Amino acid sequence: MGSVASHHHQSIHVVLFPYMSKGHIIPILHFAQLLLRRPGTNVTLFTTPANRPLVEKSLPNTTACIVDIPFPEFVPEIPAGVESTDKLPSMSLFVPFTRATKLMQPEFERLLEILPPVSFMVSDGFLWWTLESATKFGFPRFAFYGMNNYAMAVSRSVGINRLLSGPESDDELITVSEFPWIKVTRKDFNPPFTDPEPKGPLFELTMEQAVSASNSYGMIVNSFYELEPVFVDFWNREAKPKAWCVGPLCLAGPPKTESQTHPKPAWIQWLDKKLDQGSSVLYVAFGSQAEISSEQLKEIADGLEESKVNFLWVTRNKESELGDGFEERVKERGIVVRDWVDQKEILMHKSIQGFLSHCGWNSVLESICAGVPILAWPMLAEQPLNARMIVEEIKVGLRVETCDGSVRGFVKWQGLQKTVKELMEGETGMEARKKVKELSEMAKNAMEENEGSSWRSLDMLISEITCKVE
Ligand code: UDP
Repeated sequence: MGSVASHHHQSIHVVLFPYMSKGHIIPILHFAQLLLRRPGTNVTLFTTPANRPLVEKSLPNTTACIVDIPFPEFVPEIPAGVESTDKLPSMSLFVPFTRATKLMQPEFERLLEILPPVSFMVSDGFLWWTLESATKFGFPRFAFYGMNNYAMAVSRSVGINRLLSGPESDDELITVSEFPWIKVTRKDFNPPFTDPEPKGPLFELTMEQAVSASNSYGMIVNSFYELEPVFVDFWNREAKPKAWCVGPLCLAGPPKTESQTHPKPAWIQWLDKKLDQGSSVLYVAFGSQAEISSEQLKEIADGLEESKVNFLWVTRNKESELGDGFEERVKERGIVVRDWVDQKEILMHKSIQGFLSHCGWNSVLESICAGVPILAWPMLAEQPLNARMIVEEIKVGLRVETCDGSVRGFVKWQGLQKTVKELMEGETGMEARKKVKELSEMAKNAMEENEGSSWRSLDMLISEITCKVE
């Protein structure tokens, strides 16, 4: 038997199968890049035809093999041609959309027959049925949820039964028994995904996914040990399968030099100008899924206008939705962008000193890596838990002030103005900025080739798998 190190150079073949949404595809693409930096590693990535361009664009000049499987047609409720949750008319179609992916299984397995033998697979936690395929073909499956260990551990500790049938009302504080310093409310968990009745279709799907994940070989977690050691240790002590922290995956690609695109996009030129003037800028973005009412959009616009800070707001909403004449009135201080932007590039820009964010986990990690403190305004899924982690646990941000004081909810312009100013100019903002810069260094160290905890964690995973196969 050779030394552990020698196994690294043995050729391996990894299959990746991300879920069809931007926030799930992007980190898996970074994971592919991380794998491809290791000699002798081959990657096959499965997706659907409509998602193929995004995948190809992110893996240029690599040996990754990209395979697309047609998204099932004629699924009741899903409009023809929709192959990604960000294109769904409403997130209430999450269950039928996700259920429909199982119809891809026969084609997936037909393709596995003709591929070279697979060493292991990382597939999204939402694609529960891929475990069955892995078992049939005899290779280990790792589940990827795109969540951190904090959210995983807190959810597990509170327990699904407590959430479904506990005595508490929606806003009542629940003490998390394993972590008594953490208090959550029912509102922290998976909004707005609810079933019409207890234990309905969403519950069933979630349970199937959870069973599939826990019967898998491991979980791939986009986080790093030093960020949340208590929660990683808890998970690996109390839960299964083992969690492997391999992130922040946004640092996996080749290091970025200044501005990749020429000419620089208009918004980067605008940021350059602000930097030259010695001004700082707030970055505002709510991810690819958030559905924001027009009433709420107007409050955001008013809050930004009244706060008098410089801002760059990336939104899919039309000009008319932000209020009459808003963009004209603020044009010296604020820019509204309706394109797909390179968010990492924006966050890394020296002018950016704060991020008003929906707390999607990718955005949070990108902000941490860039050393930018966060004004947390969670909306969907596990984002409220991410916001708690940001504010109470790792202390790299503060919370936006909601009208009713709850973890998520309607924000009036006054609440926004107050918290934006606190983040950009106040004492708590300054403390968060100091803390996030420390974590940004730790994140880079974790991803350090050969040395960092995340790099080594993936090394150990590969060794473990290749030793078993022999
Ligand atoms: N993103 C981007 N440009 C955009 C919008 C989003 O690059 O115009 C990226 C962002 O950097 C992040 C991902 O899309 O990597 C969004 O994931 P996140 O978990 O933050 O939120 P979600 O969109 O899943 O709610």
